[in-house]
Amino acid sequence: MLRPLPPAESLIAAIQGGDRAALGRTITFLESTRPEHLHLARAVISGLEAQCSASAPPTLRIGITGPPGVGKSTLIEALGLHILSKGHRIAVLAIDPSSSVSGGSILGDKTRMEQLSVHPQAFIRPSPSGATLGGVARKTRETVSLVEAAGYNIVLIETVGTGQSETAVHSMTDLFLLLLLPGAGDELQGIKRGIVEMADLLAVNKADGERLKIAQQARVHYLNATHLLPAKNSGWIPRVLQCSALENTGIAELWAAIRAFETETRQSGWLRQNRRTQARQWLHEAIQQGLQALLEENQEVQRLLPLLEEQTAAGEISPFTAAERILQIIGKGSI
Ligand code: GDP
Repeated sequence: MLRPLPPAESLIAAIQGGDRAALGRTITFLESTRPEHLHLARAVISGLEAQCSASAPPTLRIGITGPPGVGKSTLIEALGLHILSKGHRIAVLAIDPSSSVSGGSILGDKTRMEQLSVHPQAFIRPSPSGATLGGVARKTRETVSLVEAAGYNIVLIETVGTGQSETAVHSMTDLFLLLLLPGAGDELQGIKRGIVEMADLLAVNKADGERLKIAQQARVHYLNATHLLPAKNSGWIPRVLQCSALENTGIAELWAAIRAFETETRQSGWLRQNRRTQARQWLHEAIQQGLQALLEENQEVQRLLPLLEEQTAAGEISPFTAAERILQIIGKGSI
């Protein structure tokens, strides 16, 4: 038997009381394909947003990427604990396009962030699974709204260096951090040039022990490389740092660089402008996906489509006329 859905008010009250299980449950509703689940999750988001106090600290969304094994989880643990020590509340989300196959590899294993995952002011959620990167990204974008409304003012979104998932994370964050390994060129690390161009901060991790010297060399190499990149719209000049997530060195400097970015781009107005642009993009994306869902759910469309496909393939009807017939069905339904 299905469990009855809780009322939105009780979830809102629980989340406001710091109940992370209630927050997790709301995200599960957000990730569900059932309309009543989505409706409930969105009601929770709106309810929380309506009650957000004007004095709540501004939020900052940080994207983190880097090749597998570079130390993303270790760094998120170290940086996350540092951020918590400054009195912030932090949410860690992930976009992992492979998670539909693997069942959520990144962040799925919470033991990788041992202290962060049990900290009462931190919330960690693995990547949603889904058939398409677009779908996964949209769920994560909505989850960002939810965790922010729940009072987590620093949101970290982790992804893996495939190229496309970085673009998705970039489209929902204020700042993009690229982690690098010491002593290996970009090509060797599998990092595409476009990703280096997206980064606001680059950090050479594992700058410790025997690797300290090559980490320093790598830092200079990347510093020179960033000088050759086109200027950013934000006006921000990318910084290259080095750190050791394992030994907890360079973490305070990394946070200081993040805050410097935030201060500069808030003052210039870019941060606000960029969020407005992103919000518009997400609106259009959500409309597209909504239309797609309407098409897939409409029985008349699904009945007619194979026939129209045949007819267009046979040249009996133009693809555009066929498309119009399909769209007319949807148009009729919504009036
Ligand atoms: P991810 O795949 O990018 O999330 O990388 P992990 O955080 O899982 O780290 C991969 C391995 O590198 C683990 O064995 C870590 O202990 C190790 N590691 C992570 N950060 C550092 C570091 O700063 N220095 C050293 N020496 N090892 C590190």
